[in-house]
Amino acid sequence: MVWVYPDLLSTYGDQGNVLVLEQRARARGIPVEIVHVRSADPVPEGGDIYLIGGGEDRPQILAADRLRRDGGLHRAVGQGAALLAVCAGYQIMGSAFGGEEGQPVAGIELLDISSTRGQRRAVGELAANVDPALELPTLTGFENHMGVTHLGPGVRPLSQTVVGTGNGDGTEGCYAGKVVGTYLHGPALARNPALADLLMSWIVGPLAPIDDGWYNRLRQERLNTVIPT
Ligand code: GLN
Repeated sequence: MVWVYPDLLSTYGDQGNVLVLEQRARARGIPVEIVHVRSADPVPEGGDIYLIGGGEDRPQILAADRLRRDGGLHRAVGQGAALLAVCAGYQIMGSAFGGEEGQPVAGIELLDISSTRGQRRAVGELAANVDPALELPTLTGFENHMGVTHLGPGVRPLSQTVVGTGNGDGTEGCYAGKVVGTYLHGPALARNPALADLLMSWIVGPLAPIDDGWYNRLRQERLNTVIPT
């Protein structure tokens, strides 16, 4: 498992995504090795799951530039690795995103999306119903971004928003192959352990169930704050 650029992109506890995957792999007896790749270092190609987090505009621009020059993440995904990209990391996977002044900045084109700067910041809790093809329960998370993301025909929306802004057109996140992008912090995989298991199952196949009591309490508490029961 490769945690990409913790020195540039790791807001709102996104590193928790790494911890959740590690814990859920170990609980099932699946051996796991975690590599933190700082932005001065090459991204190794041999990982199974890559994770990248959110960040402020400047580190995001720097990260996009370094990832493009490095090429390791492209090669890894080309070889069948899974990738979870959050917020700034998600925007970077597209063809372009909005910089500090809204100027277009080139992304790395791992997903058929492009982002621009929206009119106002999207901040707060988000809940969204996932594409039925993925068979996941409602997504819950926290969003904080200026960006609006346009999906091209090469990706599918990850979910339809119930509460919150997400991509800005009623959808939240997207996926293509084993690459998932989302605006959700929380961290996303602690709020949505089924999404963690989806990523893991893409690599190791069907997974044994594990006790999700703690996760379910967190999920329910957060969902209850936005969806009245
Ligand atoms: N800088 C990006 C935006 O505002 C991403 C923010 C984030 O990662 N939280 O849209």
